[in-house]
Amino acid sequence: MTSTRWLAEYAWLPEEAEPTPDVLIETVHDRITGVTPLATGGGPDAGVDVLVDAVRLPGLTLPGLANAHSHAFHRALRGRTHSGRGDFWSWRDQMYAVAANLDPDSYLALARAVYAEMALSGVTGVGEFHYLHHRPGGTPYAEPNAMGAALVEAAAQAGIRLTLLDTCYLTASVDGRALTGPQQRFGDGDAVRWAERVDAFTPAGGHVRLGAAIHSVRAVPAEQLATVAGWAQRRDAPLHVHLSEQPAENDACRAVHGCTPTRLLADHGVLGRATTAVHATHPTSADVGLLGDSRTGVCLCPTTERDLADGIGPARRMADAGIPLSLGSDSHAVIDMFEEVRAVELDERLRTRRRGHFAPAELLTAASSAGHAALGWTDAGRIAVGGRADLVTVRLDSVRTAGVSPAGVWFAASAADVAQVVVDGQVLVRDGRHVRVDVPRELATAIAEVTS
Ligand SMILES: [Zn+2]
Repeated sequence: MTSTRWLAEYAWLPEEAEPTPDVLIETVHDRITGVTPLATGGGPDAGVDVLVDAVRLPGLTLPGLANAHSHAFHRALRGRTHSGRGDFWSWRDQMYAVAANLDPDSYLALARAVYAEMALSGVTGVGEFHYLHHRPGGTPYAEPNAMGAALVEAAAQAGIRLTLLDTCYLTASVDGRALTGPQQRFGDGDAVRWAERVDAFTPAGGHVRLGAAIHSVRAVPAEQLATVAGWAQRRDAPLHVHLSEQPAENDACRAVHGCTPTRLLADHGVLGRATTAVHATHPTSADVGLLGDSRTGVCLCPTTERDLADGIGPARRMADAGIPLSLGSDSHAVIDMFEEVRAVELDERLRTRRRGHFAPAELLTAASSAGHAALGWTDAGRIAVGGRADLVTVRLDSVRTAGVSPAGVWFAASAADVAQVVVDGQVLVRDGRHVRVDVPRELATAIAEVTS
């Protein structure tokens, strides 16, 4: 049993509007066993003398952050697709070219480096929306879950927890066109065969849990949506779905089904507390009502939505409707949870030309406990007794953060200010460096391998 006492200069505790100074955090193995604010009275152990053995955490210590929406291989496109014109659909063609180059070995190397990059930004748990299942052309590997297993191993080596959201991807359009070309790798034929493949997968390790995803209403026919939703319900597993990222998806759904994608999902039993809709950039008012009434979550991916010219989702309106918000870096044009967080507020300002839509503590919840809960880890993302021992310490003395009020960290810090990350009681990032992955070198090597 590893028992550690950490002394945080500031720690952001649950339900607090702002960080608390001088907090003693005790952990045993992978759990938080004590949280004592010393400046406000403390306990009998609060004297400075007994703290000589405590590990000092200068700066602001946050709970572990959750990256609730990731496609690890998209990281290979960063900085390669940003010049020239185009939109989501032309970007997607370039993304497919990278997908065609991946096999289980190259995917392991790339995802290990990408997950380690996430750790450097304070991410302790990731939701991988995984649809790259089969060989090019669609033939299964000898082990049909070889690509998923590569992601599970990658997360283990990078030291973060993973929810593998195994994605059902069957058709190329809302009206049911067959998968062709690079998309053939994604398909299992039908939802029943998708479920059989996933049921045959028992990922190894305490760091992983299995969830389900419906790629979108473009990719799963309406009559098969309930099969995927039913699988998730039976397994008590999280269920994610891309939703209304593009107006074109809404238009196509109306043309084929006579309703919005959100209405279609509601009518087929997809919405609910265990479900997270990713993006929800273009919902109608009625859609927001359906999501809120069913307590379906929404994962915003602001830096990707910005990069792909998707638009700005109605974040405040959705939160007011009772929708839990979480955050994801999705295409990994940027992996910096501070940038995702502040974009939630700043994008709303651009749209409304007013400031002050989200309290800093609401943003913390989206980046931490709500994100972990959306991935099925309800015991993560809070510095509280019984919670997982994830601690992310941000410098308050860098060129970006010097002089800021600790609660203002979202608007000042970047991933580069993350000094230390503890995941399940283990130090994973120390002095801003991953303890076992040379992240820049491994990223460069892995990306060269799949883009050449
Ligand atoms: Zn996505």
